[in-house]
Amino acid sequence: MPRAPIIRKSPADLRVPPNPPIGWQEARRALAGLPGGGVNIAYEAADRHAQGPRAGHVALRWLGAAGERREITYAELAALSSRWAQLFAARGVGKGDAVFVLCGRIPDLYGAVLGALKCGAAVSPLFSAFGPEPIATRVNLGRGKALVATASLYERKIAKVRGEMPTLAHVLLADSPEVRAELARLPATFEIVRTGPEDPSFIHFTSGTTGMPKGAVHVHGAVVAHYASAAVALDLHPEDVFWCTADPGWVTGTAYGIVAPLVHGVTSIVDEADFDAARWYRILQDEGVTVWYTAPTAVRMLMKAGADLARQYARPKLRFVASVGEPLNPEAVWWGLETLGLPIHDNWWQTETGAIMIANTAAMDIKPGSMGKPLPGVEAAIVRRTGGSVTLVERAGEEGELALRAGWPSMFRGYLGQEERYRKCFADGWYLTGDLARRDTDGYFWFVGRADDVIKSAGHLIGPFEVESALMEHPAVAEAGVIGKPDPVVGEVVKAFVSLKTGYAPDETLKKELLAHARKRLGAAVAPKEIEFAPALPRTRSGKIMRRLLKARELGLPEGDTSTLESPA
Ligand code: AMP
Repeated sequence: MPRAPIIRKSPADLRVPPNPPIGWQEARRALAGLPGGGVNIAYEAADRHAQGPRAGHVALRWLGAAGERREITYAELAALSSRWAQLFAARGVGKGDAVFVLCGRIPDLYGAVLGALKCGAAVSPLFSAFGPEPIATRVNLGRGKALVATASLYERKIAKVRGEMPTLAHVLLADSPEVRAELARLPATFEIVRTGPEDPSFIHFTSGTTGMPKGAVHVHGAVVAHYASAAVALDLHPEDVFWCTADPGWVTGTAYGIVAPLVHGVTSIVDEADFDAARWYRILQDEGVTVWYTAPTAVRMLMKAGADLARQYARPKLRFVASVGEPLNPEAVWWGLETLGLPIHDNWWQTETGAIMIANTAAMDIKPGSMGKPLPGVEAAIVRRTGGSVTLVERAGEEGELALRAGWPSMFRGYLGQEERYRKCFADGWYLTGDLARRDTDGYFWFVGRADDVIKSAGHLIGPFEVESALMEHPAVAEAGVIGKPDPVVGEVVKAFVSLKTGYAPDETLKKELLAHARKRLGAAVAPKEIEFAPALPRTRSGKIMRRLLKARELGLPEGDTSTLESPA
């Protein structure tokens, strides 16, 4: 197939006419609002449908790791989440409280998340591949009052650090006989606590270059952006079978794995198992997936699994594919067209934006390699920071920081306990994203890179500081510097440079011990994959490890400005 710089769409390419480009006002009108006033995401996602013609429509089709299959209608989801809400309420959980959920992708995760929202609490789903330390750090930052987990995850991840989470008053094991019995006993109805558009809904943790993770606070009013973006960027129609492959422990898995499809009243596929190329092709085929939202790492893993495997499965219903989280190589867009028969539509957003901001929509021609154009209501620009203000980069093609005009409905409303850090994200009415990008003459945006040192591995944002801190806890480690090392499949792998205290030998045994130590504390999602010993690490005169320099050396690139280097390490 010829590799043109643009994939043009004709009406014949689209099986259903794309949704109109709706903005916030239209989305607001499409939602119900709480009877009597206010807005609550759980009401929009479950109870509203349960009380109307979609009550019997399948909300979740759960595929268990061991081959089980369970369908949950909107009426059942409303009931399940009401029981969870009753369970929380009985323990005094309500407005102003935070509930953490660490369950893996099981139906009770959805029940517990929506149940906590019904109580007026803020919810933070955690990734099950996190180790005990990232979990305890997040629960403490969020001052979690209740934590819902499965018994096995509790044993493996929480038991050891239970005593280090002083605010946690209740640990509820979703699969324990006690909780099962209590849920069965409790009423399947609940009067949703009245929340307004500015009341907290979710807390999503994200990583920066310095310090511990930041808890980005989101609000119930964000549902307007979830609805609008899923209509325009994912082209959701009422009869769709939608599959978002992201885990709810990350923002995509919550916003588009839980909220957006439910708010649209469509059927969502929930796969409990981890990535497996054959399994994924089988799901696309057997479950009749129509709209698929996945990530570049997954696409690259499917590409690696080969075209032969892809050919063994059909995708008769699939009509729209989108991807998010990291740069989508033009090669992957073309692979979609050639292998799936559909191009992959890249879109861009981040934890702080709460919803998709820039996208290649169904109606648009695609420029492979571009993230697309801002959605209706989103104003994006390329800017340059100058002190406390910004200047707009007007010229097409010029690189700068990607900025968004502040005030869209799903914008984060703060970083927990870090007012100053939040304030610094804004200048002259613009939110500064920390991403470098450029815009072309047609208004398409192109991702260039991160402006900071955070690492993107398999679509997950990892803060180097959190990894360095865990390594430093090992008695042999004097200092640690962590970078993202480019990787053809997962984008970047976490690589640590470590200098040792006197008396320790930099040998293979110690390397293995450090890798195991980090993995035990941080979990597989965050721990380094590679460790390299160095006699000393380059530091600035103010004592900060120069990760930029470590990375340049790793890549064999020029070292750039080293005038702040303390000593020639
Ligand atoms: P997170 O907050 O974990 O969702 O990560 C957000 C970051 O992922 C963004 O700031 C970007 O650096 C990166 N990202 C998200 N979507 C894309 C995309 N379509 N292309 C390139 N990078 C992306």
